[in-house]
Amino acid sequence: MADNRVVQGRMVTPKKLAELVEGDSVMDAEPISEADRDCPDCGGDVLSVGYMPSVTEFVTGYKCQDCDWSERET
Ligand SMILES: [Zn+2]
Repeated sequence: MADNRVVQGRMVTPKKLAELVEGDSVMDAEPISEADRDCPDCGGDVLSVGYMPSVTEFVTGYKCQDCDWSERET
């Protein structure tokens, strides 16, 4: 599927990427897009994914493709 991306050497779906950012399971996730920023830790490419950790919450998550760095924005 075109929506899947490689993160730290593993193919992830939007939902799996959201779960990496959240550190928990999520209800739903939008397609992955490329964020216009570099990782502050390693300078690698950063992906972004919008997701819903719960029915009432929407979060934009950012995750580096090369290292453990991630960030969530509400
Ligand atoms: Zn990084």
